[in-house]
Amino acid sequence: MAKPDPSPEAAVAAARARHETAAVREVLARRGLGGYAGYAGWLSRIDALAARGATLELLGQSVRGEPVLGLVLGDPGARRCSALIAGLHPIEWIGVETCLTLAERLLDVRDRRVIIAPLCNPDGILAVQEHVLAGRRRFVRHNARRVDLNRNFPAFWGGSGVQTWLPTRLFAPGRAPASEPEVRALVTRFRREQVDRAVSLHSFGGVVLYPYGAKWKAPLDAPELRRWAARVAASVDARRPYRAVQSARWVPGFTAPGMELDWFHDDRGALSLLVECSRGNALERPLRLSRLLEPFAWFNPSDPERVAGAIAAAVEPFLRGAPAD
Ligand SMILES: [Zn+2]
Repeated sequence: MAKPDPSPEAAVAAARARHETAAVREVLARRGLGGYAGYAGWLSRIDALAARGATLELLGQSVRGEPVLGLVLGDPGARRCSALIAGLHPIEWIGVETCLTLAERLLDVRDRRVIIAPLCNPDGILAVQEHVLAGRRRFVRHNARRVDLNRNFPAFWGGSGVQTWLPTRLFAPGRAPASEPEVRALVTRFRREQVDRAVSLHSFGGVVLYPYGAKWKAPLDAPELRRWAARVAASVDARRPYRAVQSARWVPGFTAPGMELDWFHDDRGALSLLVECSRGNALERPLRLSRLLEPFAWFNPSDPERVAGAIAAAVEPFLRGAPAD
């Protein structure tokens, strides 16, 4: 007989107990990499959100049995829903920090629901944490089965072109659309909702991307998407605004099938944005060789609190369902 699923609260408590690691924040800060909370620290922040009124959900489990968690805010009876996800790419920790900051800012939402999945690739995040704590300079992009979760969504999945012959399988899409349990958990949950706004947080590059990622062609609602992307891009950093670009045109010739960005747009009918948070910290002054050689520093700024606050403030009106103009 199958064991009954644990309650989400029990799943969080068990994960915290398994992975309580002393001083992730201190070790990273000491090495100039920024005071990031790390996996157990983020789980306690999720607990605190639940204590302040967010409803905790267990959306599924990762390949290695870690919880894929959801936080539901707002009116349970509301029809419209905003989706916010982070951490599909496990080294992009600034996305997780920004996501939790947004969750805290959105606790008072009333006229819609906001469903948030802050740690979409827990196995990958734990792998990154182990490497960083051990001082190993590793780049991690996949889940525990070496699949790039942001090529595994059932939207133009598989595709053709560069990603099918890249020798490293950097962008490995998995054996079928939503073959990975982490992606399946998200797809199943969000298919129950009328999602009209969606944001996925990544890093780095200082851009706000809109659909499509899988094709050069722009969707019919491109003008509205472009307006929103431009508005978020402009308000994120007054001195040096982000760029707003259609995803497939960000790196010319490099389309990306199976992205969450396209799935939220085509499957859920949402206005969908992907924010590449920050410009990393490898080139922050003073230049340090140790940071140039450290993949974690490429993706994550050394002042996560300030950067997360700025991006959260720029994205918040969109997730609250504000009109475009
Ligand atoms: Zn990413």
